[in-house]
Amino acid sequence: MSDIIQLLPDHVANQIAAGEVVQRPASVVKELIENAIDAGATSIKLLLKDAGKTLIQVIDDGKGMSPTDARLCFERHATSKIKDAKDLFNLHTKGFRGEALASIAAIAHVELKTKQEDQELGTLIKIEGSEVSSQESVSAAKGTSIAVKNLFYNIPARRNFLKSDTIETRHIVDEFQRVALAHPDITFLLHHNNNEVYHLRKSNLRKRIVAVFGTRMNEKLVPIEEQTDLVSIRGFVAKPEFAKKKRGEQFFFVNNRFIKSSYLNHAVVNAFEGLLDAGSHPSYFLFLEVPTTSIDINIHPTKTEIKFDNEKALYAILRATVKHGLGQYTIAPLDFDRNSTFDTPYDYSKKDQPSVPPITVDPNFNPFKTEPSSFTPETTSEPPKSTPAVPKTGSSSPTPSTPKSFTSNYKKDPGQWEALYTDMSSSEPTSSAPLFESTYQEPLFDDSRETETGKTFQIQKKYLLSTIKSGVVLIHQSLAHQRVLYEEFLENITVKEASSQQLLFPVSISFPSSDIEIIYSIKADLESAGFMFEEFTKESVVIRGIPTSITESQITFILEQLLDDIQMEVPDASFSHFDVMAKSFAKSLAIKTGTSLSSKEQENLVNNLFSCKEPTTSPLGKPIFKTLTLQEIDGIFNK
Ligand code: ADP
Ligand code: MG
Repeated sequence: MSDIIQLLPDHVANQIAAGEVVQRPASVVKELIENAIDAGATSIKLLLKDAGKTLIQVIDDGKGMSPTDARLCFERHATSKIKDAKDLFNLHTKGFRGEALASIAAIAHVELKTKQEDQELGTLIKIEGSEVSSQESVSAAKGTSIAVKNLFYNIPARRNFLKSDTIETRHIVDEFQRVALAHPDITFLLHHNNNEVYHLRKSNLRKRIVAVFGTRMNEKLVPIEEQTDLVSIRGFVAKPEFAKKKRGEQFFFVNNRFIKSSYLNHAVVNAFEGLLDAGSHPSYFLFLEVPTTSIDINIHPTKTEIKFDNEKALYAILRATVKHGLGQYTIAPLDFDRNSTFDTPYDYSKKDQPSVPPITVDPNFNPFKTEPSSFTPETTSEPPKSTPAVPKTGSSSPTPSTPKSFTSNYKKDPGQWEALYTDMSSSEPTSSAPLFESTYQEPLFDDSRETETGKTFQIQKKYLLSTIKSGVVLIHQSLAHQRVLYEEFLENITVKEASSQQLLFPVSISFPSSDIEIIYSIKADLESAGFMFEEFTKESVVIRGIPTSITESQITFILEQLLDDIQMEVPDASFSHFDVMAKSFAKSLAIKTGTSLSSKEQENLVNNLFSCKEPTTSPLGKPIFKTLTLQEIDGIFNK
């Protein structure tokens, strides 16, 4: 029973990237699980209460700590993982800063129970706000259990800053998934409020990905593998047809550590060139193995950013490898057992200055494309100079076809919207002349042409141009429909009894269990919106009723969109899911740019828009229409 933890000397401690480690429950989860992995655990349990706000407990079967170490581990810069500044550039452990337990003990009630294999008894230490309140010998299993209770109990401002349970749970699940993916050889268990969310048994990478993201993931994965002197790459990308509308499931691991890198992401997205619809993001699970001496992990306190020595070369290799993998999968349909060590064209040991390697994949071979390839190797094989953001893609994205119920949505009486519109014109930005002046002095059109008022034309399947007495209104059709649907949904959810349609056969939809948790947590809200649930299992939800405004074929899409939106939303504590839900549904279901509308549909849309409470802006705050008064039009020609 040896003691291994040491306090880092000041000159080493001072070289450690400073900064806050514990921002939220998920940060604690990350640090504790990383410690368990560093301790050689083969099984790790994570128990949560109230999104970690009440309890975060991590139990491992790793090597445990001696009584002295159990006390020392809560000291700042106390670590068993590095001794020297030079160790910072040759790391083989997740942790190295010796700060996590000290930071956690300062802001929570912590109970540590730990025992080494060869010890009779273990150690139990209780510590609150950095003060040890008790230490005793207890019987314990081999390994370590750390319970962190009442996070931020002594910093109310930080505690109040925490988001809703749904959001905090999402952050925790993100961390949990990252580390579970990196370690398929470890069994992981996640319980939240005594419900089992994940039980991931020791397996291989492919099975682990499927266990985390649901059985549907299996058919989506394309294996990626390459070995060069500089880096070896393995993992999977999801086939392009499964790219997601929101940032997909995108994971990079460098030496088994999850990292964020928009630069490397760019390389992968670039490899999908021509295969993705505009606005969609590929999913990937890529593991890069590089010499520990060629990276710097000590640039950010949360250790999720890394500096690479050979960033440009990595970019090129990664891009070529993914491209190759995608090409392979279409030539020879998935052969998972294939030993795919390609003859690598990269031999960096013989080069002083790594340059961008040539792409060996036939650039013109593009099995997904029907039109000729626009590939230009000269421009695309060169990595961007600095860390680029993912290229912005067009806003028009293919989406499900116009809802069947499109026409039935327009149940409002096509009334005199112009009058309604005039009523709200006071909220318009003031211009020198009133926008709608019923007593306009100089009518351009004579009475016979006056009947043209209220006529609507569609422009480029994107805008509606509607004539009004005092000029024209230019309306963005998709945004207008979003506004109409949004107000309808809100009214249905909050005011009326939501109308629901019973499905002939209940549909079962599979989701990753973390998503099932979220759906379950907003079940009541979804029911108010018209959903009816039959059953929740760990991998699926069975739905037997849906809001009348959606069709059966849209269920999966709109729920996926909703999950994405909930995850992106950063609401305050008084957060209601209704608004997010109404926005999300409206966005999913609104007619899109590119949809032609009959004149009746155009008319209905315009009428319904101007029956809305707030017709000027879309639910996401974009302007919906612009008016041009006759005076303004005249102005154009009288310059
Ligand atoms: P770091 O992980 O950077 O060393 P921490 O504050 O997270 O710093 O942990 C301090 C030390 O406590 C670790 O170096 C390790 O020796 C010990 N330790 C922490 N958690 C565990 C655990 N689950 N099992 C065994 N030892 C642990
Ligand atoms: Mg640690």
